[in-house]
Amino acid sequence: MDILVAGYQALQRGAGSLDAVELAVRLLEDDALFNAGRGSVLTACGTVEMDAAIMDGKNRRAGAVAAVTTIKNPIGAARAVMETSPHVLLAGSGAETFAAEQGLEKADPGYFITPRREEQLRKARMPTALPLNPKEDQPGAVGTVGAVARDMKGHLAAATSTGGMTNKLPGRVGDSPLIGSGTWADDETCAVSCTGDGELFIRTVFAHEVHTLLRFTDMDLRQACKTALKQLETLGGSGGCIAVDARGNVVLALNTPGMYRAWIGMDGIPYVRIFADEDSGVV
Ligand code: ASP
Repeated sequence: MDILVAGYQALQRGAGSLDAVELAVRLLEDDALFNAGRGSVLTACGTVEMDAAIMDGKNRRAGAVAAVTTIKNPIGAARAVMETSPHVLLAGSGAETFAAEQGLEKADPGYFITPRREEQLRKARMPTALPLNPKEDQPGAVGTVGAVARDMKGHLAAATSTGGMTNKLPGRVGDSPLIGSGTWADDETCAVSCTGDGELFIRTVFAHEVHTLLRFTDMDLRQACKTALKQLETLGGSGGCIAVDARGNVVLALNTPGMYRAWIGMDGIPYVRIFADEDSGVV
């Protein structure tokens, strides 16, 4: 709730949507409860490899980092890639070097690791466990973080950050840093940030699919998100997305038992939801 309000207050003070989504995601990365930054889930080798992306709906500029291990706030590095490099996505050691050159804060690999994630990895390694994304006790506990916003000038932005999937192979990159899959923003249509089975979000190019449905059909944002989720489900995928459209309508769609989500819409009231059957977004 504090993080939601921090982002909203920044927008109220006239901050751009890009600054607001970066701020919200940065605060979520610092919170060990979530699977991003400190508190990221662990790879099969017990290490942390993080992915993040940010996109500016004003001009479709985008930046991302993948498989980074020592950048304290990967979302800041994603923004730096967008603003100070000619590239969109930097991965691994090249991204680490770039972030260091930009003067971004580093952290020891141990900073990101929490006992809860070590326990989850231990369970995931047990012979009966699924190899990827073991469903956890609580709904929404997978915990990738994302933010979307529309600012006073009507500009949209999206940001996503994650440690990926528990027990993933080292080197695996998910949907979050792939522009169009887990993250997308275009002022003409919508800003979208996704969470869930990354491989399926990549294969359905999920966030861009929502954009395409808005652009080329008469669907509204809720219908577009639901349609994209149906396609994901057809391939066996689960997860959800948060989205805002050019008019400021907010939708938080999911096909899982729950997803931690919160929003402030035109009414200025903060809403927080966890379970799937609770009202989820306003159109
Ligand atoms: N989509 C993320 C990934 O595949 C994981 C998640 O959202 O839980 O890396």
